[in-house]
Amino acid sequence: MSKKMFKSESKKLLNLMINSIYTNRDIFLRELISNASDALDKIYLESLTNKNVKVDKSKLSINVAYNKDERTITISDNGCGMTDKELDDNLGTIAKSGSEAFKESLDKGSKNVDIIGQFGVGFYSAFMVAKEIKVDTKNYKSDKSYLWKSSGIDGYTVDESNKKDNGTVITLYLKDDTDEVKYSDYLDENKLKELIKKYSDYIRYPIMMEVTHHEEDPKNKGKYIDKKVVETINTMVPLWKKDKKDVKEEDYNNFYMDRFNDYEEPLYTITSNVEGDATYRALMFVPKKAPFDFYTKDYEKGLALYSSGVMIMDKCDELLPDYFSFVKGVVDSEDVPLNISRETLQKSYSVRVIAKSIESKIRKELSNMLKNDRDKYIEFFKVFGANLKYGVYDKFGANKDKLKDLIMFYSYKKKGLITLKEYVSDMPKDQDSIYYASGENIDKIDKMPQLDSVKEKYDILYLTDYVDEFCLTALQEYEGKKFVNVLSDNFDLSSKEEKEKNEKANKDASKMFEDMKKVIPGVSEVRFSNKLKDHPVALSVKGDISIEMEKVFKSMGNGMPITAQKVLEINENHKIADKLKKLYKDDKNEFEKYTKILYSEAALISGVTIDNPTEISDLIIDTLAK
Ligand code: ADP
Repeated sequence: MSKKMFKSESKKLLNLMINSIYTNRDIFLRELISNASDALDKIYLESLTNKNVKVDKSKLSINVAYNKDERTITISDNGCGMTDKELDDNLGTIAKSGSEAFKESLDKGSKNVDIIGQFGVGFYSAFMVAKEIKVDTKNYKSDKSYLWKSSGIDGYTVDESNKKDNGTVITLYLKDDTDEVKYSDYLDENKLKELIKKYSDYIRYPIMMEVTHHEEDPKNKGKYIDKKVVETINTMVPLWKKDKKDVKEEDYNNFYMDRFNDYEEPLYTITSNVEGDATYRALMFVPKKAPFDFYTKDYEKGLALYSSGVMIMDKCDELLPDYFSFVKGVVDSEDVPLNISRETLQKSYSVRVIAKSIESKIRKELSNMLKNDRDKYIEFFKVFGANLKYGVYDKFGANKDKLKDLIMFYSYKKKGLITLKEYVSDMPKDQDSIYYASGENIDKIDKMPQLDSVKEKYDILYLTDYVDEFCLTALQEYEGKKFVNVLSDNFDLSSKEEKEKNEKANKDASKMFEDMKKVIPGVSEVRFSNKLKDHPVALSVKGDISIEMEKVFKSMGNGMPITAQKVLEINENHKIADKLKKLYKDDKNEFEKYTKILYSEAALISGVTIDNPTEISDLIIDTLAK
């Protein structure tokens, strides 16, 4: 006999869970049944490819039983079972997936339900109702069977046992009743039946239970007796095989939460029943929140793939384009052979056709959501919008036309998200381009000096997401309207006369600007500007790389210094312009100080960090003290 401890992070999680992070204790049964169903799938699938494994499909089943006197509930299956190593691997660590991220979340503050909810704790949810759990199991490939025992956080033991048939028997010894919780409520036929029907009805294998039938005694007419009968409790029809009108929203939601380990209902459910080039049924969901690892390399996209009701792949990557990677769901098709492998899958014509059809279905549904339930779409977009924008930019813009009407940007005029179509249709006649400005956040962009003169007449899209400008670069234009950066140095809405006046002012001061550039080598140009209204200075850029894009490149840290060409703009109508000219003539020393200060202030507005903050601070305060 060997006593083993749970891995340390598992222990913490177990503790949190037992102390009821999950408020819904009922789910323990669906978790165990769902594991049993997976184990049946596994052995069945094995039997299809391995001649040595013989399985009578009609005998595969799950059994649920209870014993009032012993206060036990037993869930058994004749599936694949586990070896001693598998017992250790599978039941020795909780939250295997993402245990690193999980540890981090614990370190940050252990009661972060949002994050904890995203770790499939499956089997361990049984500790919410059980004080002790025994797992007796025999793997189909092994002669030996094992008994795993645990009373919670102390650890577990594994011993050899004498189970004859392959499969797993899980026995839960219920906790003692307390004033708050009557655990013995689960020791009831009707309660268990209700839970099976509610959470596990769609399981494709029969879930059997001994139930009591109250019926007339055939030998004794008029007299009623209780008869024990073993019955299949679930209808066994997968949810996606049922007609949408026969399924309650709650059923879809429960299925989603169970199948995809989410503690929240999905934001949006998509059902699809297609016949023709591709014949398949799909049930898909858009989650409310992004999975904890969604924006990392670790996230695996894909839909579960079923061939005529048998699951053949848990996450079939080929069925979803990257830009819809947030979609969860299942696809069931008779066009896909049972024995398809990862390799043949990639070449499979039917999988390609199904994937194409699914892509357009998701796109249509999202566009319907945008049209018919804008609030919901915005809720969706705030979570997954960056993924769509990335999709526009990815693959050299190959998918941009599919996605351009699904993306949104913040509108200065509407004070909220709008589509490009909406922007263009609201453009006044004299506007020929789509105006945008990028910055750290809405508020900072809103206060940028260059925007003032534009705002009076036109709407501006505020870009705050790192991917936004890359997305616009990929799009190039929308309905023939080019995207124009309001923070670009050559952006100019002034009249011909104003332009000429400005050009002359710049020409006259060109020598001074050259000398200023020597003092502030970070800028590629200094100039007078007529678009700043009452503000003295601002930073603009020349060319395609904006200040925000420069930050993105920097954060990628691949050593390639891709920088924005910065232009220091000085308001030609502001008092400071004359002051500068005067200092340039009279006091070169003071002139240099002013130059440094002006640049640092413009940088501050644009969120550009400067290399010499102490020097600038001294300069400003010295000047103030004069
Ligand atoms: P999940 O099901 O999300 O992987 P669980 O904690 O519920 O997480 O289960 C952990 C693992 O234990 C499963 O992935 C499976 O390999 C194994 N397991 C659990 N129950 C059974 C069972 N009844 N038969 C065979 N293996 C099982």
